[in-house]
Amino acid sequence: MGNKVPNKLLSMFRMKCPNCRKGNMFTNKSIFPLKEVLEMPTNCPVCDQKFEIEVGFWYGTGYVSYAMCVALIFIFAVLYALIIGFSWKDNSIYIFMPIVVGLLVLLQPLIMRLSRVFYLYVFVKFGEGQTMKSE
Ligand SMILES: [Zn+2]
Repeated sequence: MGNKVPNKLLSMFRMKCPNCRKGNMFTNKSIFPLKEVLEMPTNCPVCDQKFEIEVGFWYGTGYVSYAMCVALIFIFAVLYALIIGFSWKDNSIYIFMPIVVGLLVLLQPLIMRLSRVFYLYVFVKFGEGQTMKSE
């Protein structure tokens, strides 16, 4: 029994530490100012879990954000097809493209953050992460 474990998916979208699901992974709750969007404390303020587990740890997140972009384009394309519909007779595809590109640019700060969250959740399991602490 013990304490209730916070829901994993919910904690991910709230960008909480994967080890304790209480501490915030990012310094600023808001994505603004944009240049500090990826500012993170070195360790979790609650459980002291190290966030950047090793030097260059975040390089792998490039693949995660790429996959998220592809998935989003797919979702937008399905929604667009259902709501507006694609046709070769008009230029719906030329309307769709800039909308998707615009949305992806707008969502970029969120995608960058969430890809770090997803990536860290792969490597750090709830309540087990502290063993990875340095020193
Ligand atoms: Zn923590």
